[in-house]
Amino acid sequence: MATRLELLEARTQLRAAIVAAEDWQESYKADPTTFALLTYLEAQLETHVAEYLHQLALRAPAYVDWSRLPEPIKADAGPVANNDDEVWKEEQKLLTAAILAVITDLVATGVVAGESVYGIPLGMATLDVARLDVQIQEAARRYTADLVKGVTDTTRKQIRESVAKSIALGEDINASTERLMRAIDNPIRAELIAQTEPVNAYQTGLKHYAKSTGAKQKTWDGLAGACKLCAPQVGKTLDIDELFILADGREVDRPAGHPRCRCGLIYIY
Ligand SMILES: [Zn+2]
Repeated sequence: MATRLELLEARTQLRAAIVAAEDWQESYKADPTTFALLTYLEAQLETHVAEYLHQLALRAPAYVDWSRLPEPIKADAGPVANNDDEVWKEEQKLLTAAILAVITDLVATGVVAGESVYGIPLGMATLDVARLDVQIQEAARRYTADLVKGVTDTTRKQIRESVAKSIALGEDINASTERLMRAIDNPIRAELIAQTEPVNAYQTGLKHYAKSTGAKQKTWDGLAGACKLCAPQVGKTLDIDELFILADGREVDRPAGHPRCRCGLIYIY
């Protein structure tokens, strides 16, 4: 029989094929090798996040003091572990351990894609390569920290909402625990997280490459009809550090502009 790891790898391979068939902007496909890597890493990230949520669902019931129900649910005190409780730091560590390597690979893939597409070699001096390596690691760590914080905040909210609903419905502990576990072990959430972040991480790497090799400007690469938020920016060229303004007024340095955004950037030298 296949082990869980083998099943997860098969799932990742299958998801990678599905992801690759989506409507990616052409600039991602200019180099087939890094495009294949990008879609594989996206699928891998999804698998890792889904596994994390699956395990979290088993831990989450212990973050609720069921003996205190039906006390009202509050963020600072109440039956659910409050915001500064140690357990959330532990959760952040676990999620970081689950995704940091994939995020680092995604940032690095953006750098390699830049080299393949634009053909300007990165400084060959050992010092330059070492510096870029440090930049990749730092960007990945920063990026992962933000992502982990966001996911953990949402988890806390989900636990509170689930318990509040159980109280409102007068459910017993069994029914409440089951509701909570179902809410946390959510593959759709894993998919949403994993479909937005790879573009951010990859584009972070690509920008590092572009800046290291002297790019001056950038053009937003997207299908006018593809996403309403990004549509006003499609084809627009700005200086490399200027911000694009999306349809909802948010300013971004680069895609992703929104969840599931597949827009790209073309750098100009
Ligand atoms: Zn977009």
